[in-house]
Amino acid sequence: MRGLMMDDPLLVSDLIEHAALNHGFQEIVSRTVEGPIHRYTYADALKRIKKLANALNRLGVQQGDRLATFAWNGYRHFELYYAISGSGAVCHTINPRLFADQIVFIVNHAKDRFIFLDVTFVPLLEPLADQLPHVEGYILLADKDHMPETSLPNVMCYEDLVEPESDEFDWPRFDENTASSMCYTSGTTGNPKGVLYSHRSTVLHTFFQCNGEGFAMNSKAVVLPAVPMFHANAWGLPYAVCMVGAKVVFPGAAYDGASIWEMLDTEKVTFAAGVPTIWMMLLEYVRREGKRFDHLTQTGIGGSAVPLAMVEAFEDEYEVEVFHAWGMTETSPVGTTGAFNCKVAEMPLERRRTYQIKQGRSIFGVRMKIVDDQGNSLARDGETFGQLAVKGPWIVGAYHDNDEANATQFTEDGWFLTGDIATLDDYGYMTIVDRAKDVIKSGGEWISSIDLENAAVGHPGVAEAAVIGIAHPKWDERPLLVVVRSEGAEVSGADVLSFLDGKIAKWWMPDAVEFVEELPHTATGKIAKLKLREQFAGYELPGVGSG
Ligand code: AMP
Repeated sequence: MRGLMMDDPLLVSDLIEHAALNHGFQEIVSRTVEGPIHRYTYADALKRIKKLANALNRLGVQQGDRLATFAWNGYRHFELYYAISGSGAVCHTINPRLFADQIVFIVNHAKDRFIFLDVTFVPLLEPLADQLPHVEGYILLADKDHMPETSLPNVMCYEDLVEPESDEFDWPRFDENTASSMCYTSGTTGNPKGVLYSHRSTVLHTFFQCNGEGFAMNSKAVVLPAVPMFHANAWGLPYAVCMVGAKVVFPGAAYDGASIWEMLDTEKVTFAAGVPTIWMMLLEYVRREGKRFDHLTQTGIGGSAVPLAMVEAFEDEYEVEVFHAWGMTETSPVGTTGAFNCKVAEMPLERRRTYQIKQGRSIFGVRMKIVDDQGNSLARDGETFGQLAVKGPWIVGAYHDNDEANATQFTEDGWFLTGDIATLDDYGYMTIVDRAKDVIKSGGEWISSIDLENAAVGHPGVAEAAVIGIAHPKWDERPLLVVVRSEGAEVSGADVLSFLDGKIAKWWMPDAVEFVEELPHTATGKIAKLKLREQFAGYELPGVGSG
């Protein structure tokens, strides 16, 4: 017997309609790439989004067409999110920090018909344009006065395109499983893989994100996504702010400490989300300049593991609560959140912090298990390591047009294999031990590079740390710790190792410490371990002579 409730599809266009109707006064504030701050409301935004939807129609965009964006976090990118998906096309956000050949691969693989780009990305795309045969035109996110000279073919001006259109548009209603947006993973090996989100997965992910066990969002929040809209939908925040009617502040292209702090302060931001690298720059700035956070009450941190020292800095020095989350492009992207359960909330501070630096716990909608190489489920005892497998309505079911990855990254019974090595405990808290390819295999046991890195950055003389495995004749691999010193610090390798003593298992102690000016990062702000391994290829650990 079927239920008799309405079969009303979950559609992305309903999020912005809801925000404009019920929170029409609420502001969307953007730092523009042109410079000035732009400010308008959800009601204003909806009108422009409808104009844009009409413009897309005029360009001949059909349902299912892929339209790419190369854009910073700002109001025009927000308009594209809603107009493209709302009209039934696919909003394909592309990470401009990827290598040129990856960008060419992605645009061609997705068969993007048009590219919308901030003017800052014109020099990036000009030399690639003749390798992008499917692209029919380039729309620059600017008004007439800010249009640069360019060799890009078939260039249009966004404001000229949008302005003449009507602000009336009836959103089409269609199957909620229709693709709404698309994002390629920036894997360090092989070609990027395409993840196609649906309207249904996006709206369900947004419900999850806003709920009390998720990010607990509401209309009184002022939200600053310091996570780019070109990477995993800025953690879904552009959708979540519409669902709850929160004010949103877009930082544009300026992610340095001073610019982010200024936006946090002047716009009275209460919740900001970012990766540890961004927060490290912000903390350095506020310390150096003696600033405070008068409005910020909570920061969401994810994308890489949050070090304990960062939790302590935010909470103990600045009274800003830290909220750790884990996710992937393939999980829309939020998979777990660090909201305390009632047992953890009651624990003394030190013990609570041990939970806070875990990657978060199971929230309804995402099922998790850890498995061994044969796919057997392992114990949820907080100690046993295995590959994390996940399942749920906003988890990737298959990659776009990629038989190879589809054959290897999914189990026969439909679980997605994340490539993360993790533990699970009986409260459902998950701890990432490492990426499967980064874990250091020493004497048949595993050493977590992440744990070592987090312990090392606890030393005040260490700004950033990375650990890689170096081949060892006896142990297979041993850890090498690579450190960037904090500004002005004169810390030595011996200082760092004696600092680690007692904080990690004795046999995890790095065999050597090397200092570098900076560490290589991937396009998404993570430490580029593959590059670092190349940099230290042939490195000889002390005591392991070639003869
Ligand atoms: P991406 O798809 O680029 O967002 O990368 C996803 C990967 O980032 C995950 O598979 C994890 O390896 C890593 N990651 C994300 N969040 C965290 C976190 N809180 N702690 C540790 N690693 C994380």
